[in-house]
Amino acid sequence: MDAHPNLLLELQGVSLELRRQREQRAAYARRLTEIARTRQALLRELSQGETELNRLATAIRNGERELTALEEKLAHLRDRSAVVRTPKEAQALEHEMELLGQKKADAETQLLNQMEEQEKLEKKIADYRKETQAKIVALDAESQRLAQLSREADELISTLQSDEQRLLSMLSEEVRAIYTRLLEKQVIPMVAVVREASCSGCLTTLPSALVTDLLTKGGVEFCPSCKRLIYHSATPPPKGD
Ligand SMILES: [Zn+2]
Repeated sequence: MDAHPNLLLELQGVSLELRRQREQRAAYARRLTEIARTRQALLRELSQGETELNRLATAIRNGERELTALEEKLAHLRDRSAVVRTPKEAQALEHEMELLGQKKADAETQLLNQMEEQEKLEKKIADYRKETQAKIVALDAESQRLAQLSREADELISTLQSDEQRLLSMLSEEVRAIYTRLLEKQVIPMVAVVREASCSGCLTTLPSALVTDLLTKGGVEFCPSCKRLIYHSATPPPKGD
């Protein structure tokens, strides 16, 4: 077939680099998605901790209010105990004060526990916030770096695409069709040199007539076994090269 191996090898170099750049760009995109997900999860966890802290602060405020109300009630009962008349009344009042006193003690214990818990949680969340912020700064820096690399890959891809088109247009329709099919099927490399009368792509021994043809006429043929485009390295350069 009429095509110079050098042109095909140049085209192959461009196609393979294009493939590599596309894979690289896809890897950047995957990592960027992963970073966004990690960032979101970190912030969500921090916000859950803060919600828990708010819930605790509300519980403490309610507990304090309850305690004040109990104290007021107790003070009121004490005032009443000064003016009771019958022993029965006094006994009932004493019983009520005892119950309230117990309630107050329970409320105080609960409040103390909650305050202790709050202190621990505050410290934990402060540490976590610091850690999260450091992680987010690092993730954001990585994101920016990847976005920049991705833009560079985009530019390179667009240059390589036009190079590939330009080189493809220099091939005969037949060779172009074979090359494109090999590229689509990912038979890599698409172009293989003949080495010791074998196709270096699939290592099959080639018919001697084919090898002689390639050696004397130059150009390219395709390997009967793997269908790669094959050439002989002794092919003379075209005139003007
Ligand atoms: Zn082959």
